[in-house]
Amino acid sequence: MTGFVYTSHPARVIFGSGTLARLPEEVERLDLHRVLVLAAPQQADDAQQIAARIGPRAAAVFSGATMHTPVSVTEEAMRLVQTERIDGLVAVGGGSTTGLGKAIALRTDLPQIVAPTTYAGSEMTPILGETRDGQKVTQKSPRVLPETVIYDVDLTLNLPVALSGTSGINAIAHAVEALYAQDRNPIMSLMALEGIRAMARALPVIVQSPGDRAARSDALYGAWLCGLCLGTVGMALHHKLCHTLGGTFDLPHAETHTAVLPHAVAYNAPALPDEMAALAAALGATDAAQGLFDLADAVGAQHALKHLGMPEAGIERTADMAVANPYWNPRPLERQAIRDLIAHAYAGERPQ
Ligand code: NAD
Repeated sequence: MTGFVYTSHPARVIFGSGTLARLPEEVERLDLHRVLVLAAPQQADDAQQIAARIGPRAAAVFSGATMHTPVSVTEEAMRLVQTERIDGLVAVGGGSTTGLGKAIALRTDLPQIVAPTTYAGSEMTPILGETRDGQKVTQKSPRVLPETVIYDVDLTLNLPVALSGTSGINAIAHAVEALYAQDRNPIMSLMALEGIRAMARALPVIVQSPGDRAARSDALYGAWLCGLCLGTVGMALHHKLCHTLGGTFDLPHAETHTAVLPHAVAYNAPALPDEMAALAAALGATDAAQGLFDLADAVGAQHALKHLGMPEAGIERTADMAVANPYWNPRPLERQAIRDLIAHAYAGERPQ
């Protein structure tokens, strides 16, 4: 075995069904007395119930979390942090809500308890992307890592089927790129393949039977492992493309990942025969890129970026941006081939 460096981030994880019942105990364990509960507007009622569950140690609720963590929203929540003398954060929701908690933690170093309700995986990463004046800036800081993550399968039972599918494939994308990261290591590769296996077997079941607790449990377990991959090793072409597409054309996050992933994998495949064989096996497929396209089909996802809001002129623009600031990728960045990759994803074709 060749040498490697493996950095693990500290996190306390409570996993299972009904685990949110342990939230008051965790609040006490962290010695928090004035907690701010964070949520997205669509989950405002849940946030109120969670505050009630915490009892007198819940000081306030802020249900304004939104996609891409706009600084204006964070500043609004920060005013509540100050006026209510908040000493800890409880974020219950998807990546947008987790992002808000992380943005507040970056500014305050307040302890965080996060209970994810999607498969985005942000709770496992020291990464924070914030938007100011329409520009998304991503940074890494250990300050944004939550102290405790409560994975409660029950919180995911009502995650709409369409979002379950694309959020799950978004998670798989983290693990896929961990398999060929420049700083890959055998520990993360184990977790990546286990995460992909768990997610790939769960998603088709969830589509048929959204309340299947065993499949939901597999998916959340997979999301945890895939999130760890994103937080621990560097990403490559796929994540760069999705970041560019999402930021430039305001495309939906998980859906964009789902449409691009089979094509990014097909692009890198010639450079990675061993990794692709392992990936295909984890997906239960004979070919990795085709297997990912089939999985997107199985969850009823949209394959075509043009139907997600990308303009056709965006193909050339994205190709230019993809090669403008070179970064590490297992296959060298070739503008024409990347342009073709984007064109296939734009049209929603099967990967070549
Ligand atoms: P999201 O948090 O925006 O949620 C999407 C919608 O689904 C929201 O309306 C939300 O209220 C609703 N929802 C969430 N869970 C639900 C549930 N269980 N039942 C019913 N409705 C539910 O979407 P997301 O895909 O989880 O997160 C995307 C955001 O997270 C993006 O801004 C992305 O950049 C960020 N992200 C960051 C990282 C990181 O490491 N920093 C990692 C992944 C994603």
